[in-house]
Parts: sequence; structure tokens; C-alpha cells
Amino acid sequence: MTPAQKLQKLHETYASKNTCDLKATATQAVFGDGNAQSEVVFIGEAPGKNEDLRGIPFIGAAGKFLAEMLESIKLKRENVYITNVVKYRPPNNRDPLPSEKESCRPWLEAELDLIKPKLIVFLGRHAMNNFFPEEKISSAHGKLLIKKIPGIATTYFLPTYHPAAALYNGSLRQELLKDFKQIPLVLKKISKSN
Ligand code: URA
Repeated sequence: MTPAQKLQKLHETYASKNTCDLKATATQAVFGDGNAQSEVVFIGEAPGKNEDLRGIPFIGAAGKFLAEMLESIKLKRENVYITNVVKYRPPNNRDPLPSEKESCRPWLEAELDLIKPKLIVFLGRHAMNNFFPEEKISSAHGKLLIKKIPGIATTYFLPTYHPAAALYNGSLRQELLKDFKQIPLVLKKISKSN
């Protein structure tokens, strides 16, 4: 089986056994999307309306901005891997509950374990706090965090603001673009140190 086939199988397995309460209200599970061998994985919060309807993460307005930011650092969406902490849309886009994050955690850990990226980028505070509960996004964004987390092979993490937060806020937009510029630099630094 190719890495892409293994990943597809992993998603199907977790979707069938997952017990998240959001399954009852969501249209479908939104699997992570992209290259199963990507050096960098982007983690968002939870699917929104468009994502729920189409079953693909980050395809609405925030996704369009994400694709633009990727292009600004010469990355293509299809060459990286994009996923969410929670795989089902919370009703009315409310914040996911701790129990919902917990029930999707083994799924997220399994996909990260298959891909084993060099770097994980947290898109927003929900993704960051899922791994670094003590950090604040206002001070941690754009800074490389290095930590050994049980169950996670990756040790390099870069938090950024969530792309949706920047849609109507010009200064956050600039911060995000600036933080994305760190990604190629950090990847180079990691490759050198290995
Ligand atoms: N916001 C997220 O956090 N994830 C998506 O997939 C879409 C919007």
C-alpha cells in the first residue's frame, strides 16, 4: 500500500469507530487532505459549513487565504497536508468542547504518526492549546516550540493565528504572512540539525 492509501484506510477506520458526539449533527467526517509524505502538517480547529458539506478541510474563505499564504512561501496546497483537531463540524461553528477534542485526539495522533512531518504548524489557539495548553497565541505565534510530546514523533511546532481571524483584520493578516515566512526557514534549520 502507498502512504496515501494507508492514510485513506486510517481515516476510514477512525471515522467508523469514532464516538464523537458531533457525528450526530455533522453531514460527514472531514478527513485530513493533501500529501501523506509532507514535511509539514497544518492543523486547524474544526470544519466549518463548506468543509462539512464537501468533506474537505479549509475550502471556504479561510482556506482561500491559507492557500494564498502557502503560495507566498512557494508551497502548493496539494503538496502539504492539512487537517483539523476535530473532524466533525460543531453546530453553528461553536468552539469544539473538550470531550469532542478528546474523542478525535487518537485519530489526529494516528495521522501524524503515519506522516511523521518535520514540522507541525498550528493554525490558531485551539490547535496549539491541544498540545501546549499553557501557551497564549498572542505571544507564541511565529515562535518555534520544541518539545517531546508523548505519542507524537514530531518535536518542532510553529503556532500562528487562525486564518479566519485575519480575514477582516489587516494587521493580523500581516502577522500571519510574516509567521508563514518562518516555515521554509524552520524546515531548513531542522534538516541541517538532523
Ligand atoms: N477552520 C478550521 O479550523 N478548519 C477548517 O477546516 C475550516 C475552517
